[in-house]
Amino acid sequence: MVEEQSANLRPRGKELVELLDSLGQVLAEPVLADRNFPPFPRATRDGYAVRAADLAQLPATLSVIGEIKAGAAADATFKIESGQAAAIMTGAPAPPGSDAVVMVEYTSRAADQVTITKGIAAGDNIVPIASEAKRGDKLLSPGVRLDHAAIAVVASVGRPRLLVYSKPRVAILSTGDEVVDIDVPLAPNQIRNSNSYSLAAQIQSAGGEPVLLPIAPDEPERLRELIADGLEADLLLLTGGVSMGKYDLVEQVLAQFQAEFFFTGAQIQPGRPVVFGRVPCGAGAPAREGASAPGDHTYFFGLPGNPVSTMVTFELFTRPVLEALAGMTPRKLVFLHARLKSEIKTKLGLKRFLPAILSGEFEQAEVELVRWQGSGDIAATAAANCYAVIPPDRERIAAGEWVPLLVR
Ligand code: AMP
Ligand code: MG
Repeated sequence: MVEEQSANLRPRGKELVELLDSLGQVLAEPVLADRNFPPFPRATRDGYAVRAADLAQLPATLSVIGEIKAGAAADATFKIESGQAAAIMTGAPAPPGSDAVVMVEYTSRAADQVTITKGIAAGDNIVPIASEAKRGDKLLSPGVRLDHAAIAVVASVGRPRLLVYSKPRVAILSTGDEVVDIDVPLAPNQIRNSNSYSLAAQIQSAGGEPVLLPIAPDEPERLRELIADGLEADLLLLTGGVSMGKYDLVEQVLAQFQAEFFFTGAQIQPGRPVVFGRVPCGAGAPAREGASAPGDHTYFFGLPGNPVSTMVTFELFTRPVLEALAGMTPRKLVFLHARLKSEIKTKLGLKRFLPAILSGEFEQAEVELVRWQGSGDIAATAAANCYAVIPPDRERIAAGEWVPLLVR
């Protein structure tokens, strides 16, 4: 089943983008070294290019036969012979005959003589030609999400444009009779729709393109229409309406689209009622663009409506699926660890993801829970910067214990 699923969880297509616009996009082609890296033996310090063997006896005095700055031709007209040195700058090609660079800090210069007070091993402060990569080597593989370091690699091989996977379009459908748009006056019994916006931000940060649908009431006909619209996207996210309440209709309406449910709950808090499944394309819903093969499906999540539940379940369950649709090479979720500042007491039974503040520096990472009113407390969660993960079998965790953190 896993293979069958992953065949469906594929990107829609490829497009050419400017390197300057490529941050966060997923590479759709291999990036090869167009030359050797480095293209010449590169000095990594300002100092003197020498033959290391000349420094067996210290101090050693060598005659300086020239100067090589960054940008100098790699085939310098002189060769370093025994007893000789050349002044050299960081980034310059080490001249033939030299095998090390002595840092200028360990030298003193008088006219064309340099006296060196510290020994050195052959190879020190020189990066050999082609030691980072040979011409033709693969530097980046398709599926890499472009961060600043990957962008540096693309720039270094002289590519102002590159092929990336098209971003998956992710439909967001918030549900609930009490939920209203953020730009209209609201009655005291109504709640502004924050989930569509937090989800849009999470989708963007995971490499997708959010498509906001109108808010669905807790009424099957209109919900059905909007779900049908949402199934035209590459992934559909619903929020609300997945709990056990009388008006929690999402699963029931999805079932009308021949939905297959992979799970309808998780032993976590917040986020327990989270639902994941897929709908065969054409089952009462228009086929999504590019999904023509028989057996194609559109995947959906029913995320719980409580704002923090929505946020946490997206990170745990939706982000990996979205990354697959974006063409990213699969990876595991990464949890950091920090010491607990003060004791935590909680209830047994569910794995908890509690908003917390990670602070400290270097080897002193510390974490403290924020005070909150439960999974509707957006303000407390916004003041936090991570979630402390509490295992289901711990009622009490003492100050000073290490706890895993889901960082956002
Ligand atoms: P539900 O999962 O539909 O039972 O909703 C759980 C809680 O989340 C209720 O208090 C809802 O009012 C709230 N809620 C549901 N949808 C949203 C939304 N889009 N934005 C903000 N709060 C919501
Ligand atoms: Mg609801």
